[in-house]
Amino acid sequence: MWKEIEAAPADAILGLTEAFKKDKNPGKVNLGVGVFKDDAGTTPILNCIKTAEKKLVETETTKGYLPIPGNPAYGAGVQKLLFGADSEVIRSNRAATLHTPGGTGALRTGADLLKKFKPAAKVWVSTPTWANHKGIFTAAGYEIADYPYYNAETKGVKYDELIETLEGVPAGDVVLMHVCCHNPTGVDLVGEQWDKVVEIAKAKGWTPFLDFAYQGFGDSIEEDRAAVEKFAAAGIDFVVASSFSKNFGLYNERTGAFTIVTPSAEETAVALSHAKLTVRVNYSNPPAHGGLAALTVLADDALYEQWIDEVAGMRDRIKAMRAKLVDGLVARGVEQDFSYIKEQRGMFSFSGLSDDIVEWLKVNKSIYIVKGGRINVAGLTSKNIDYVCDAIAEALK
Ligand code: PLP
Repeated sequence: MWKEIEAAPADAILGLTEAFKKDKNPGKVNLGVGVFKDDAGTTPILNCIKTAEKKLVETETTKGYLPIPGNPAYGAGVQKLLFGADSEVIRSNRAATLHTPGGTGALRTGADLLKKFKPAAKVWVSTPTWANHKGIFTAAGYEIADYPYYNAETKGVKYDELIETLEGVPAGDVVLMHVCCHNPTGVDLVGEQWDKVVEIAKAKGWTPFLDFAYQGFGDSIEEDRAAVEKFAAAGIDFVVASSFSKNFGLYNERTGAFTIVTPSAEETAVALSHAKLTVRVNYSNPPAHGGLAALTVLADDALYEQWIDEVAGMRDRIKAMRAKLVDGLVARGVEQDFSYIKEQRGMFSFSGLSDDIVEWLKVNKSIYIVKGGRINVAGLTSKNIDYVCDAIAEALK
């Protein structure tokens, strides 16, 4: 059946990794794919996870299926991360959480669930957004609409245009928003800007779909969830897709969560019953290991403290590399102002490098950056930073 069918194009970012692997230049640098790397250029297993895994292996007695929404203690742990331990949402049972295969699994579960009850809804995504967002929602049958977000001139958010667009989103549509560390731009809404968005969501009746893939990579676990707390306090329907790939380093364990919040415990129970049906016909029930490792960390005070320190270590390393990159370019006499890279949050930087420069860096210097200029700042190390700064300075001459 495949004879007449054309091959599908390779995923743009993973395709870049393939090209990187084939490159024979020993000095090559991969600033493409979005995984955290330490200063040695490896993606480490967190120490808290290593300890948790040992505990798990010693104590686990079965590989029997998890319930469809996963282990209830995992759901409770995720909710504490999302809302804070003493939140009204948790006390009122207004939230239900399902353990999903990664953030991607959470996004798709949510997309399928909402589609069932909002067959005509459009999903609104930021311009630009993580490339897979459009793919996931298109695959779930949605029409995609865009809202203005990144302003390439000011290197900030197009706030007024964003608000104007959100005011015009019809009731019943779905608006996908990045809670923090926006991928790919690194530019987030702040404080009162979120208040305004929440106010509009409540007044207009569209459904916020929050994508939370970098909790802890902005300022801290608590500060990064500020927007989630604002939506929760508004007493409206919304959903959250959490990923623990980055903050627990559990990339290949496919660990995430889908959380539904409604105005009442009764509505949440109904929503959960339908989410379970959605999961049952998709992947049936979640993979256990990564979630149980994360839960082991969340449930143990000492491991939790260690995790907080390790997340801070990753966050601080990325911030330090941002500064080294900007200062390194200034030191090399680059006139273009790159100082905004220091202000961007999370793992990524919308560097402002043009596609021509990106191509030149790949061909001439074996430095791999995603088209559009998104840099994974965690790909910079004390070993390669001078090489990268030299190369960019040369490219911009
Ligand atoms: N959402 C955003 C914005 C992301 O950047 C990512 C991963 O890069 C995800 C979701 C998906 O995460 P996961 O790898 O856990 O599926």
